[in-house]
Amino acid sequence: MERLAIVVPCYNEEEVLGMSSEALRGVLNDLVSKGKISPDSYVMFVNDGSADKTWALIEEEHSKYPSQVFGVGLARNVGHQYALTAGLITAADMCDISVSIDADLQDDVSVIEEMVDKYHEGCDIVYGVRKERKTDTFFKRFTAQSFYKVMAHMGVKTVYNHADFRLMSSRALKEFANYHEYNLFLRGIVPLIGYKTDCVYYDRKERAAGVSKYPLKKMLALAFDGISSFSTRPIDLILTAGFASVFLSMVALVYALISYFTGHVEPGWTSLIISVWFLGGMQLLAIGLVGKYVGKTYIEVKHRPRYNIEKVLTDDSSED
Ligand code: UDP
Ligand code: MG
Repeated sequence: MERLAIVVPCYNEEEVLGMSSEALRGVLNDLVSKGKISPDSYVMFVNDGSADKTWALIEEEHSKYPSQVFGVGLARNVGHQYALTAGLITAADMCDISVSIDADLQDDVSVIEEMVDKYHEGCDIVYGVRKERKTDTFFKRFTAQSFYKVMAHMGVKTVYNHADFRLMSSRALKEFANYHEYNLFLRGIVPLIGYKTDCVYYDRKERAAGVSKYPLKKMLALAFDGISSFSTRPIDLILTAGFASVFLSMVALVYALISYFTGHVEPGWTSLIISVWFLGGMQLLAIGLVGKYVGKTYIEVKHRPRYNIEKVLTDDSSED
């Protein structure tokens, strides 16, 4: 039977931690009694350098339920993506299946069962996808949806309306550990791993307690990180602008010459305007060109795995 690890990043979550632990232990007990996971499954809270009593509460939960509640304490606040990664990588060797979920119970814990079922049907990655955003404010909904659209436009493959509530098998986690890049955007990396994947749908709820730890500033930073870590398309945009400017400089040339010969111009204007357009265009073009090389270097230094072999068929039939 598979050992399940539920990984929960927590930053200043003292108001909600107790509730969260109870709800998630409830899920574990339920799944164990249905025979879907092994009895040594656990919840792993990752304390992301909280300034409040979060860690003390995690310790307390652990002493009450030593085999069901584990804790990982980070030495300082590193942000949700890194805290989650720390938890997942720690859990990778101690589980067969992982589920990552926020501490605030906004994601529906009851769909974890569906995720586990999909795992048993052969999926290595199962995404939790929000059906609607009824409980979000208009502003949050609008910014979040723009986020997915801009990402798609910039050529970053993400799962629409999926945050970081997902199941990953241990082999998917191990492959994920091969992505060594510093700027981590999990939602972009996970789809690169491959394997059979599926989605489960749920309604996102209000935060059970406490306040959002993701103010607009952090959301914008996440969006920028997502785009800049996965796409060099902004460089292409500069290059396109460079070509467009050079083309326009040709138009400006024709226009300036016509004006010159029809005699409506101040002395010196023609040569100035042509130079301004042409040089501006050439500069943009040159920056874009240099940018292309910088972009390539950027992709290279990430050292991402180039492929992930799932199965091999050979004559001694070693299949894995
Ligand atoms: N979180 C974290 N480190 C941070 C900020 C947030 O570990 O620096 C955790 C937080 O405790 C929560 C999850 O990330 O479990 C999502 O944060 P939140 O619910 O505040 O974001 P929102 O749902 O409002 O976007
Ligand atoms: Mg939340």
